[in-house]
Amino acid sequence: MRREKKDYYEILGVPRNATQEEIRRAYKKLVKEWHPDRHPENRKEAEQRFKEIQEAYEILSDPQKRAMYDRFGYVGEQPSYQEGRTSGSFFEDFLRDFEDIFNRDIFEVFFGEEPHRRERKEYSHRGEDIKYEIEVNLSDLINGTEIPIEYERYETCPRCGGTGVEPDSGYINCPKCGGTGRIREEKRSFFGYFVSERTCDECGGTGKIPRELCHECGGSGRVLRRVRRTIKIPPNVEDGTQLRIPGGGNAGYYGGPYGDLIVIVRLKPDNRFRKSGKNLLYDITIDYLQAILGTTVEIPLPEGGTTMLKIPAGTQPGTVFKLKGKGLPDEYGRRGDLLVNVQVEIPKNLSREERKVLEDLAKKRGIPIT
Ligand SMILES: [Zn+2]
Ligand SMILES: [Zn+2]
Repeated sequence: MRREKKDYYEILGVPRNATQEEIRRAYKKLVKEWHPDRHPENRKEAEQRFKEIQEAYEILSDPQKRAMYDRFGYVGEQPSYQEGRTSGSFFEDFLRDFEDIFNRDIFEVFFGEEPHRRERKEYSHRGEDIKYEIEVNLSDLINGTEIPIEYERYETCPRCGGTGVEPDSGYINCPKCGGTGRIREEKRSFFGYFVSERTCDECGGTGKIPRELCHECGGSGRVLRRVRRTIKIPPNVEDGTQLRIPGGGNAGYYGGPYGDLIVIVRLKPDNRFRKSGKNLLYDITIDYLQAILGTTVEIPLPEGGTTMLKIPAGTQPGTVFKLKGKGLPDEYGRRGDLLVNVQVEIPKNLSREERKVLEDLAKKRGIPIT
Protein backbone atom coordinates (compact mmCIF):
# COMPACT_ATOMS: atom_id res chain seq x y z
CA MET A 1 0.00 0.00 0.00
CA ARG A 2 1.28 3.40 -0.90
CA ARG A 3 1.83 5.66 2.03
CA GLU A 4 0.74 9.15 1.16
CA LYS A 5 1.84 12.10 3.19
CA LYS A 6 -1.27 13.43 4.83
CA ASP A 7 -1.59 16.77 6.49
CA TYR A 8 -3.67 15.93 9.52
CA TYR A 9 -3.94 19.58 10.50
CA GLU A 10 -5.34 20.42 7.11
CA ILE A 11 -7.82 17.54 7.30
CA LEU A 12 -9.17 18.86 10.59
CA GLY A 13 -8.85 22.47 9.43
CA VAL A 14 -6.91 23.56 12.51
CA PRO A 15 -3.61 25.49 12.78
CA ARG A 16 -0.47 23.63 13.76
CA ASN A 17 -0.45 25.20 17.19
CA ALA A 18 -4.09 24.29 17.89
CA THR A 19 -4.90 23.30 21.45
CA GLN A 20 -6.30 19.85 22.29
CA GLU A 21 -9.66 21.49 22.89
CA GLU A 22 -9.64 23.10 19.43
CA ILE A 23 -8.72 19.79 17.85
CA ARG A 24 -11.53 18.02 19.69
CA ARG A 25 -14.07 20.63 18.64
CA ALA A 26 -12.98 20.53 14.98
CA TYR A 27 -13.18 16.74 15.02
CA LYS A 28 -16.68 16.64 16.51
CA LYS A 29 -17.94 19.09 13.95
CA LEU A 30 -16.35 17.36 10.95
CA VAL A 31 -17.31 13.89 11.97
CA LYS A 32 -20.94 14.95 12.08
CA GLU A 33 -20.64 16.79 8.79
CA TRP A 34 -19.04 13.89 6.92
CA HIS A 35 -20.97 11.00 8.36
CA PRO A 36 -21.56 8.74 5.33
CA ASP A 37 -25.28 8.42 6.20
CA ARG A 38 -25.63 12.11 5.55
CA HIS A 39 -24.19 11.85 2.03
CA PRO A 40 -26.20 9.16 0.25
CA GLU A 41 -25.44 10.76 -3.13
CA ASN A 42 -21.64 10.53 -2.78
CA ARG A 43 -21.22 7.97 -0.08
CA LYS A 44 -17.79 6.80 -1.28
CA GLU A 45 -16.23 10.23 -0.91
CA ALA A 46 -17.88 10.77 2.46
CA GLU A 47 -16.57 7.42 3.72
CA GLN A 48 -13.09 8.38 2.59
CA ARG A 49 -13.30 11.76 4.33
CA PHE A 50 -14.79 10.20 7.43
CA LYS A 51 -11.88 7.78 7.65
CA GLU A 52 -9.32 10.53 7.15
CA ILE A 53 -10.91 12.64 9.87
CA GLN A 54 -10.85 9.69 12.27
CA GLU A 55 -7.23 9.00 11.45
CA ALA A 56 -6.21 12.65 11.87
CA TYR A 57 -7.96 12.83 15.21
CA GLU A 58 -6.41 9.63 16.43
CA ILE A 59 -2.96 11.09 15.86
CA LEU A 60 -3.49 14.71 16.86
CA SER A 61 -5.51 13.97 20.00
CA ASP A 62 -2.64 11.91 21.40
CA PRO A 63 0.13 14.28 22.54
CA GLN A 64 2.85 11.67 22.00
CA LYS A 65 1.68 10.69 18.53
CA ARG A 66 1.17 14.32 17.68
CA ALA A 67 4.72 15.25 18.66
CA MET A 68 5.97 12.33 16.59
CA TYR A 69 3.89 13.46 13.62
CA ASP A 70 5.12 17.06 13.99
CA ARG A 71 8.72 15.90 14.02
CA PHE A 72 8.69 13.29 11.28
CA GLY A 73 5.58 14.08 9.26
CA TYR A 74 3.98 10.69 9.88
CA VAL A 75 3.31 8.19 12.62
CA GLY A 76 3.57 4.45 12.57
CA GLU A 77 5.33 2.16 10.13
CA GLN A 78 8.46 2.95 8.20
CA PRO A 79 9.40 6.10 6.32
CA SER A 80 9.38 6.92 2.64
CA TYR A 81 11.65 4.15 1.36
CA GLN A 82 8.72 1.84 1.98
CA GLU A 83 6.65 3.75 -0.55
CA GLY A 84 5.08 1.91 -3.41
CA ARG A 85 5.74 -1.54 -2.02
CA THR A 86 2.97 -4.02 -1.74
CA SER A 87 2.87 -6.97 0.50
CA GLY A 88 1.48 -9.61 -1.80
CA SER A 89 2.89 -12.96 -2.73
CA PHE A 90 5.42 -15.06 -0.87
CA PHE A 91 7.91 -14.15 -3.49
CA GLU A 92 7.44 -10.45 -2.99
CA ASP A 93 7.72 -10.93 0.74
CA PHE A 94 10.88 -12.87 0.20
CA LEU A 95 12.36 -10.19 -2.05
CA ARG A 96 11.48 -7.53 0.42
CA ASP A 97 12.98 -9.39 3.33
CA PHE A 98 16.05 -10.03 1.28
CA GLU A 99 16.30 -6.41 0.27
CA ASP A 100 15.84 -5.28 3.83
CA ILE A 101 18.59 -7.49 5.02
CA PHE A 102 20.87 -6.73 2.15
CA ASN A 103 20.34 -3.01 1.88
CA ARG A 104 20.42 -2.21 5.49
CA ASP A 105 21.91 -4.68 7.84
CA ILE A 106 24.58 -6.25 5.68
CA PHE A 107 25.43 -2.92 4.20
CA GLU A 108 26.00 -1.50 7.61
CA VAL A 109 27.91 -4.51 8.79
CA PHE A 110 30.23 -4.50 5.80
CA PHE A 111 30.76 -0.82 5.46
CA GLY A 112 30.60 0.02 9.08
CA GLU A 113 28.29 2.90 8.57
CA GLU A 114 27.16 4.49 11.76
CA PRO A 115 23.50 3.51 11.87
CA HIS A 116 22.18 6.36 13.96
CA ARG A 117 23.41 9.08 11.65
CA ARG A 118 22.06 7.27 8.65
CA GLU A 119 18.60 6.86 10.10
CA ARG A 120 18.36 10.45 11.16
CA LYS A 121 18.96 11.56 7.61
CA GLU A 122 16.23 9.28 6.29
CA TYR A 123 13.72 10.81 8.66
CA SER A 124 14.49 14.42 7.88
CA HIS A 125 12.56 15.93 5.08
CA ARG A 126 11.96 19.15 3.28
CA GLY A 127 9.42 21.70 4.45
CA GLU A 128 6.22 22.29 2.50
CA ASP A 129 6.00 24.78 -0.34
CA ILE A 130 3.70 27.73 0.29
CA LYS A 131 1.48 29.14 -2.42
CA TYR A 132 0.66 32.83 -2.48
CA GLU A 133 -1.50 34.63 -5.00
CA ILE A 134 -0.60 38.13 -6.03
CA GLU A 135 -2.66 40.48 -8.18
CA VAL A 136 -1.02 42.81 -10.67
CA ASN A 137 -2.37 45.60 -12.82
CA LEU A 138 -1.85 45.85 -16.53
CA SER A 139 0.45 48.80 -15.86
CA ASP A 140 2.71 46.53 -13.77
CA LEU A 141 3.41 44.44 -16.86
CA ILE A 142 5.02 47.33 -18.75
CA ASN A 143 8.18 47.76 -16.67
CA GLY A 144 7.71 45.04 -14.07
CA THR A 145 7.20 45.94 -10.43
CA GLU A 146 7.99 45.00 -6.86
CA ILE A 147 5.16 44.05 -4.54
CA PRO A 148 5.59 43.69 -0.77
CA ILE A 149 3.77 40.71 0.71
CA GLU A 150 3.25 39.33 4.19
CA TYR A 151 2.51 35.69 4.96
CA GLU A 152 2.82 33.05 7.66
CA ARG A 153 5.31 30.23 7.51
CA TYR A 154 7.06 27.79 9.79
CA GLU A 155 10.62 28.69 10.65
CA THR A 156 13.21 26.61 12.43
CA CYS A 157 12.55 26.98 16.16
CA PRO A 158 15.23 29.30 17.57
CA ARG A 159 15.03 27.74 21.04
CA CYS A 160 15.91 24.17 20.05
CA GLY A 161 17.42 24.78 16.62
CA GLY A 162 14.83 22.50 15.00
CA THR A 163 15.52 19.41 17.11
CA GLY A 164 12.30 19.73 19.11
CA VAL A 165 14.23 18.99 22.28
CA GLU A 166 14.21 21.35 25.25
CA PRO A 167 17.80 22.64 25.52
CA ASP A 168 19.84 20.95 28.27
CA SER A 169 17.00 18.58 29.15
CA GLY A 170 18.93 15.62 27.78
CA TYR A 171 17.71 12.30 26.41
CA ILE A 172 16.42 9.07 27.83
CA ASN A 173 16.58 5.61 26.30
CA CYS A 174 13.69 4.88 23.95
CA PRO A 175 11.26 2.59 25.77
CA LYS A 176 10.03 0.94 22.57
CA CYS A 177 13.35 -0.38 21.27
CA GLY A 178 15.19 -0.33 24.57
CA GLY A 179 17.71 2.14 23.22
CA THR A 180 18.90 0.05 20.27
CA GLY A 181 17.03 2.08 17.62
CA ARG A 182 16.02 -1.18 15.91
CA ILE A 183 13.03 -3.43 16.22
CA ARG A 184 13.56 -7.13 15.45
CA GLU A 185 10.93 -9.03 13.57
CA GLU A 186 10.90 -12.74 12.97
CA LYS A 187 9.16 -13.87 9.83
CA ARG A 188 8.42 -17.20 8.28
CA SER A 189 8.10 -17.18 4.51
CA PHE A 190 8.05 -19.67 1.68
CA PHE A 191 11.81 -19.57 1.37
CA GLY A 192 12.58 -20.00 4.99
CA TYR A 193 12.84 -18.25 8.27
CA PHE A 194 14.01 -14.68 8.38
CA VAL A 195 14.92 -12.35 11.12
CA SER A 196 14.66 -8.83 9.91
CA GLU A 197 15.17 -5.60 11.66
CA ARG A 198 13.55 -2.31 11.09
CA THR A 199 14.10 1.16 12.37
CA CYS A 200 12.27 1.99 15.57
CA ASP A 201 9.44 4.37 14.76
CA GLU A 202 9.33 5.83 18.25
CA CYS A 203 12.84 7.28 18.27
CA GLY A 204 13.54 7.37 14.53
CA GLY A 205 16.41 4.90 14.97
CA THR A 206 18.39 7.04 17.35
CA GLY A 207 17.59 4.89 20.38
CA LYS A 208 16.95 8.04 22.37
CA ILE A 209 13.96 10.20 22.95
CA PRO A 210 14.12 13.66 24.47
CA ARG A 211 13.47 13.85 28.18
CA GLU A 212 11.53 17.04 27.55
CA LEU A 213 10.06 18.55 24.39
CA CYS A 214 11.04 22.09 23.50
CA HIS A 215 8.93 24.59 25.43
CA GLU A 216 8.65 26.94 22.48
CA CYS A 217 7.69 24.62 19.61
CA GLY A 218 6.25 21.72 21.57
CA GLY A 219 8.65 19.27 19.94
CA SER A 220 7.89 20.01 16.30
CA GLY A 221 11.12 21.96 15.82
CA ARG A 222 9.23 24.64 13.94
CA VAL A 223 7.45 27.82 14.93
CA LEU A 224 4.87 29.84 13.03
CA ARG A 225 6.15 33.29 12.06
CA ARG A 226 4.77 36.17 10.04
CA VAL A 227 7.28 37.18 7.37
CA ARG A 228 7.54 40.08 4.96
CA ARG A 229 9.12 39.82 1.58
CA THR A 230 9.23 41.85 -1.62
CA ILE A 231 8.29 40.00 -4.78
CA LYS A 232 9.86 41.13 -8.03
CA ILE A 233 7.36 40.82 -10.87
CA PRO A 234 9.09 40.65 -14.26
CA PRO A 235 7.66 42.83 -17.05
CA ASN A 236 6.15 40.19 -19.30
CA VAL A 237 4.31 37.80 -16.98
CA GLU A 238 1.13 36.14 -18.16
CA ASP A 239 -1.92 35.58 -15.98
CA GLY A 240 -1.31 32.43 -13.93
CA THR A 241 2.51 32.59 -14.08
CA GLN A 242 4.17 30.88 -11.11
CA LEU A 243 7.29 32.46 -9.66
CA ARG A 244 9.32 30.14 -7.42
CA ILE A 245 11.29 31.65 -4.56
CA PRO A 246 13.65 28.96 -3.25
CA GLY A 247 13.66 28.60 0.51
CA GLY A 248 10.66 30.89 0.96
CA GLY A 249 8.38 28.08 2.20
CA ASN A 250 8.14 26.23 5.50
CA ALA A 251 11.14 25.04 7.48
CA GLY A 252 12.08 21.39 6.95
CA TYR A 253 11.50 18.63 9.48
CA TYR A 254 14.36 17.30 11.53
CA GLY A 255 17.03 19.36 9.82
CA GLY A 256 15.54 19.07 6.33
CA PRO A 257 15.73 22.08 3.99
CA TYR A 258 13.12 24.81 3.67
CA GLY A 259 10.38 24.45 1.05
CA ASP A 260 9.82 27.11 -1.61
CA LEU A 261 7.46 30.02 -1.86
CA ILE A 262 5.40 29.83 -5.04
CA VAL A 263 3.90 33.13 -6.09
CA ILE A 264 1.01 32.83 -8.53
CA VAL A 265 0.56 36.01 -10.53
CA ARG A 266 -3.01 36.99 -11.36
CA LEU A 267 -3.62 39.76 -13.85
CA LYS A 268 -6.35 42.13 -12.66
CA PRO A 269 -8.85 42.55 -15.48
CA ASP A 270 -8.71 46.02 -17.04
CA ASN A 271 -11.99 46.55 -18.89
CA ARG A 272 -10.65 49.47 -20.89
CA PHE A 273 -8.44 47.23 -23.00
CA ARG A 274 -8.69 43.84 -24.63
CA LYS A 275 -5.48 41.84 -24.72
CA SER A 276 -4.42 40.18 -27.95
CA GLY A 277 -0.97 38.73 -27.48
CA LYS A 278 1.29 41.70 -26.92
CA ASN A 279 -1.15 44.07 -28.64
CA LEU A 280 -3.91 45.87 -26.80
CA LEU A 281 -7.24 46.81 -28.34
CA TYR A 282 -9.10 49.94 -27.35
CA ASP A 283 -12.60 50.87 -28.59
CA ILE A 284 -13.65 54.49 -28.99
CA THR A 285 -16.91 55.93 -30.27
CA ILE A 286 -16.95 59.39 -31.89
CA ASP A 287 -19.80 61.53 -33.14
CA TYR A 288 -20.64 61.39 -36.88
CA LEU A 289 -19.73 65.08 -37.19
CA GLN A 290 -16.28 64.35 -35.69
CA ALA A 291 -15.85 61.55 -38.20
CA ILE A 292 -16.76 63.87 -41.05
CA LEU A 293 -14.87 66.95 -39.88
CA GLY A 294 -11.99 65.37 -37.97
CA THR A 295 -11.07 65.72 -34.29
CA THR A 296 -8.50 64.90 -31.61
CA VAL A 297 -9.33 62.33 -28.93
CA GLU A 298 -7.67 61.34 -25.66
CA ILE A 299 -6.58 57.67 -25.44
CA PRO A 300 -5.59 56.04 -22.10
CA LEU A 301 -2.25 54.23 -21.99
CA PRO A 302 -1.75 50.88 -20.23
CA GLU A 303 1.17 52.28 -18.19
CA GLY A 304 -1.09 55.09 -16.93
CA GLY A 305 -1.63 58.57 -18.33
CA THR A 306 -3.03 59.34 -21.76
CA THR A 307 -1.98 60.35 -25.26
CA MET A 308 -3.76 62.45 -27.88
CA LEU A 309 -4.78 60.79 -31.14
CA LYS A 310 -5.67 62.83 -34.22
CA ILE A 311 -8.72 61.51 -36.08
CA PRO A 312 -8.56 62.94 -39.62
CA ALA A 313 -11.62 64.31 -41.44
CA GLY A 314 -13.51 61.62 -43.33
CA THR A 315 -12.61 58.74 -40.98
CA GLN A 316 -14.75 55.68 -41.78
CA PRO A 317 -16.47 53.62 -39.06
CA GLY A 318 -14.33 50.63 -38.06
CA THR A 319 -11.03 52.36 -38.89
CA VAL A 320 -8.19 51.10 -36.68
CA PHE A 321 -5.40 53.46 -35.68
CA LYS A 322 -2.16 51.97 -34.52
CA LEU A 323 -0.23 53.53 -31.64
CA LYS A 324 3.12 51.85 -32.18
CA GLY A 325 4.97 50.53 -29.15
CA LYS A 326 2.15 51.32 -26.71
CA GLY A 327 1.11 47.67 -26.17
CA LEU A 328 2.59 45.09 -23.80
CA PRO A 329 6.23 43.96 -23.78
CA ASP A 330 7.22 40.56 -25.15
CA GLU A 331 9.88 38.35 -23.57
CA TYR A 332 12.62 40.57 -25.03
CA GLY A 333 11.02 43.72 -23.70
CA ARG A 334 9.80 44.88 -27.11
CA ARG A 335 6.37 46.40 -26.79
CA GLY A 336 3.45 45.58 -29.06
CA ASP A 337 0.96 48.16 -30.34
CA LEU A 338 -2.13 49.80 -28.98
CA LEU A 339 -4.85 49.46 -31.61
CA VAL A 340 -7.61 52.06 -31.46
CA ASN A 341 -10.83 50.91 -33.09
CA VAL A 342 -13.04 53.87 -34.05
CA GLN A 343 -16.82 53.50 -34.04
CA VAL A 344 -19.07 56.29 -35.31
CA GLU A 345 -22.32 57.16 -33.61
CA ILE A 346 -25.19 58.25 -35.85
CA PRO A 347 -27.73 60.24 -33.81
CA LYS A 348 -31.19 58.65 -33.55
CA ASN A 349 -33.07 61.87 -32.80
CA LEU A 350 -32.36 65.21 -34.46
CA SER A 351 -33.60 68.60 -33.35
CA ARG A 352 -35.79 70.48 -35.82
CA GLU A 353 -32.95 72.95 -36.43
CA GLU A 354 -30.35 70.23 -36.97
CA ARG A 355 -32.65 68.42 -39.39
CA LYS A 356 -33.15 71.65 -41.37
CA VAL A 357 -29.38 72.17 -41.75
CA LEU A 358 -28.85 68.58 -42.89
CA GLU A 359 -31.77 68.72 -45.38
CA ASP A 360 -30.31 71.90 -46.92
CA LEU A 361 -26.94 70.19 -47.14
CA ALA A 362 -28.48 67.13 -48.82
CA LYS A 363 -30.27 69.33 -51.36
CA LYS A 364 -27.00 71.12 -52.14
CA ARG A 365 -25.21 67.78 -52.77
CA GLY A 366 -28.17 66.46 -54.82
CA ILE A 367 -28.71 63.55 -52.44
CA PRO A 368 -32.32 62.29 -52.56
CA ILE A 369 -34.04 62.05 -49.17
CA THR A 370 -37.57 60.88 -48.33
ZN1 LIG B 1 11.86 24.22 19.67
ZN1 LIG C 1 13.34 3.40 19.74
